[in-house]
Amino acid sequence: MNILAINCGSSSIKYQFVQMKEKKEKVLAKGLIERIGKKSSFQIHFINGRTVQKKGEVKDHRKGLRKILELLTNKDNGVIKDISEISAVGHRVVHGGEKFVNSILIDDKVVEAIHIYTSLAPLHNPPNLTGIEISLSLLPNVPQVAVFDTAYHQTIPPRAFLYALPYEYYEKYKIRRYGFHGTSHRYVAQKAAEFLNLPIDDLRIITCHLGNGCSITAVNKGNSIDTTMGFTPLEGLVMGTRCGDIDPGVILFLMEKEKIGPKQMNNILNRQSGIMGISGVSNDIRDVKKEAQKGNEKAKIALEIFTYRIKKYIGAYSAVLGGIDVLVFTGGIGENATDIRGMICEGLEFLGIQLDKRKNNKNTQNEIRIISKKDSSVKVLVVPTDEEKIIAQETWRIVQKLATRK
Ligand code: ADP
Repeated sequence: MNILAINCGSSSIKYQFVQMKEKKEKVLAKGLIERIGKKSSFQIHFINGRTVQKKGEVKDHRKGLRKILELLTNKDNGVIKDISEISAVGHRVVHGGEKFVNSILIDDKVVEAIHIYTSLAPLHNPPNLTGIEISLSLLPNVPQVAVFDTAYHQTIPPRAFLYALPYEYYEKYKIRRYGFHGTSHRYVAQKAAEFLNLPIDDLRIITCHLGNGCSITAVNKGNSIDTTMGFTPLEGLVMGTRCGDIDPGVILFLMEKEKIGPKQMNNILNRQSGIMGISGVSNDIRDVKKEAQKGNEKAKIALEIFTYRIKKYIGAYSAVLGGIDVLVFTGGIGENATDIRGMICEGLEFLGIQLDKRKNNKNTQNEIRIISKKDSSVKVLVVPTDEEKIIAQETWRIVQKLATRK
């Protein structure tokens, strides 16, 4: 079965085309189109063992998806003869509200519900929907599945998801903590248990997804029971350009002092804060590290604040779980930044976390591995995540379920 996984952002499309078999999958093609709608659009595709790079404007998402289908079916170096060889399409959808606790086959009702949740994710759900609508029109007879970032966190109990605001706002506007990166947290927790050859039902796992966006999840017996992102992906950890946890009083104070409205404030909190805001250098940890090594104090403190917040949440989630068996690092930073992992784990020996310096410093890419000492009671793992591949796997799972039900 060939699955096309699509991740549509506001100006980008990431995709993966995967041949799925039981316990075996092969990525036939993958790639991305960036800066859609701009003259500076560019594309990178890995197809049939070749890399195809293209520059030049891709006007809109429809043109982008058409290009991807053309490449897949290209006579000379495509991977399929015809689009009829695409068995199903999986779509990343950021917000599924309280309705979707699992991935689901897309029909009119699902599309309508995703439209409704646009008010909760105004930046993310519209491009996701665009991808779905275009794909439904280009591939009308192919089953399409929505895979939600929020779904995995629907097992979080009310004591963790409700804010201490007047209850009417939860009833009126569904203001609550939803959590994001759910597909990644679910995947790395499962992979870690499989790798350790232990039943996930016996494990208390803390998963740290550290990329441009960062979040941590407490996983008990395979279920998310708390996570750091909230009503929006702004809460929790310090991120590339997002502030994470903040006293809401600061926001009111700043809006009054600087005479700024909600739009500008939103921009400050989402785009001008975090590592970028503190360091004044970059949102990329690698650049900030270089500056810190040169003695830039703001860069140094940015890294300290970033790792301190993560450490604090590992402590909090150990308490929430009643202990910890496995700590997982994933995402661009979690998978690659050895010294950041070292800074996070330093001082956590009292929890049973003992990092093995040599194993931690060995930087093997795209490989699941243990980086804790042999006698560390908490197993610390690096588990590469791959959002598009998870979407493909989820889509396969849903489509297969439907096939066996028929
Ligand atoms: P996204 O959240 O957009 O999927 P990624 O998970 O790819 O992003 O993470 C991107 C971030 O990962 C970069 O901003 C950078 O800070 C960090 N990163 C990537 N590679 C490395 C590396 N080799 N060393 C340190 N940090 C890295």
